[in-house]
Amino acid sequence: MAKYIFITGGVLSSVGKGVTTASIGLLIKSMGYSVTAIKIDPYLNVDAGTMSPYAHGEVFVTEDGGETDLDLGHYERFLDVNLSKKNNITTGQIYLSVITKERRGDYLGATVQIIPHITDEIKSRIREIARESGADVVLIEIGGTVGDIEGLPFLEAARQMRLEEGFRNTMFIHVALVPTLKTTGEQKTKPVQHSVQELRRIGIQPDMIVARCETPLNPEARRKIALYGNVPPEAVVSNHDVDTIYEVPLVLHSQGVDKYIAEKLGLEYREPDLTRWIDFVNRVKSSKKRVVIAMVGKYTHLKDSYMSIIEALKHSAAHFGTKPVLRWVEGTDIEQGKLSIEDALRGVEGAVILPGFGRRGTEGKIAAIKYLRESGIPTIGICFGLQLMVVEFSRNVIGWERANSTELDPNTPYPVVDLMESQRHIKGLGGTMRLGAKPIWLVKGTKAYEAYGGKDVVYERHRHRYYINTKYLDYFESSGFRVSGYSFEGDEVVIEIMELKGKHVYMGTQAHPEFKSRPLSPALLYLYFMKSILRT
Ligand code: GLN
Repeated sequence: MAKYIFITGGVLSSVGKGVTTASIGLLIKSMGYSVTAIKIDPYLNVDAGTMSPYAHGEVFVTEDGGETDLDLGHYERFLDVNLSKKNNITTGQIYLSVITKERRGDYLGATVQIIPHITDEIKSRIREIARESGADVVLIEIGGTVGDIEGLPFLEAARQMRLEEGFRNTMFIHVALVPTLKTTGEQKTKPVQHSVQELRRIGIQPDMIVARCETPLNPEARRKIALYGNVPPEAVVSNHDVDTIYEVPLVLHSQGVDKYIAEKLGLEYREPDLTRWIDFVNRVKSSKKRVVIAMVGKYTHLKDSYMSIIEALKHSAAHFGTKPVLRWVEGTDIEQGKLSIEDALRGVEGAVILPGFGRRGTEGKIAAIKYLRESGIPTIGICFGLQLMVVEFSRNVIGWERANSTELDPNTPYPVVDLMESQRHIKGLGGTMRLGAKPIWLVKGTKAYEAYGGKDVVYERHRHRYYINTKYLDYFESSGFRVSGYSFEGDEVVIEIMELKGKHVYMGTQAHPEFKSRPLSPALLYLYFMKSILRT
């Protein structure tokens, strides 16, 4: 039977609940228990796929093609597991399913209500994941902040689960911000006190309170949080700012969080084996060398939009004992003449052409790509990045001036990037892209083949509607931009990876290898890219 740990948030959202959840998961896993993690998002979208990265940060793609909240990325990276799309539950999914059942007549005779129908649906989904994963411990992070109207049905379901599963089998951990007053340097606990009160008002007494703070929680603040939060002082945990998020599990471990959780849940305590993790963190912290990487995109004002790429770069850099310094290059700024290409890319050692959608900023990105290709700076393009590399190549090397993607110019005379056949009849936009892990066949003798360690087939995750138009394949190949990976989608051939010959990496992939990058096993394509930069 699974144990359930619910993680709630207080005071502010975005205080690092996801990282805290992932860190607790890692500690429990390192004790030798199997762990899975669920993110609950109390919004009405069925999934994150239809949300702008500006609103919500990156859309994380799971192996089974779920378009999910970026916290699933944290869970996968810390726990080193592949999660399912089911591990991201939203209000939209819950209501959709309850209303569908109602229309079908499943509740015949009953008045369908938030309690019990919505709460039952929530509980059954959580239990289904527990059952299917076979995990010893299920972590459930409830998004947003306690007190949000949207979150109430989920908290109510959690409260009921404690009754039904028993106190020994459930635990509540509340993560809340403890701000420091600049003027006095004092850590203020009142907001936490209030958020715990709010939690108690709806019938939940936390078992542990994690204080997110800038500097380690001082004894006085700890004492107050324990007293007003109604928990013993050892159940108050300082989760202060650290150099890297990967250090958080170590911060929690040093305060006995794992031991406390094991005791509460009646699990046998075993010293967690964190040797390799500690190694990685030390490598990250001690690396003196820096590598400057241009991030060419259009959601550059919200770095969370590119979370998994940033992490993949960190993983691969750490592997070589260096740290990436990211230089954000906003396509729109180049397009509008606010930023010159030379200024943007001066001193850059490598570049990532970032994924994206829509026209804005693309001409600026294409201009940056031309510069990168001509100056031989190691460059990788991810998804839209590959597509724009192909557009740039078609225009400036092959000489088709108005070549474009039909996503950006439906009337281009050279649609070198076009809508996939299989996408033409699709009407709705939710969950209908080419999604999830797909096989990529690698071409022997190419850099991609070498990057993947000589494997013939690899699986990477995808999220796109457009693809490289195979009609022009001979032109690309004969001009030197060769295909080094391909796939099939029904009858269609999908070009997956393209590269230029030459000393350095200049490569684009239709896939998103970053989604599978883990601290201890970085994505191979990113490793190869990093190696190419460090060789220069
Ligand atoms: N907009 C492009 C497409 O739909 C690329 C998407 C992406 O970069 N993830 O194919």
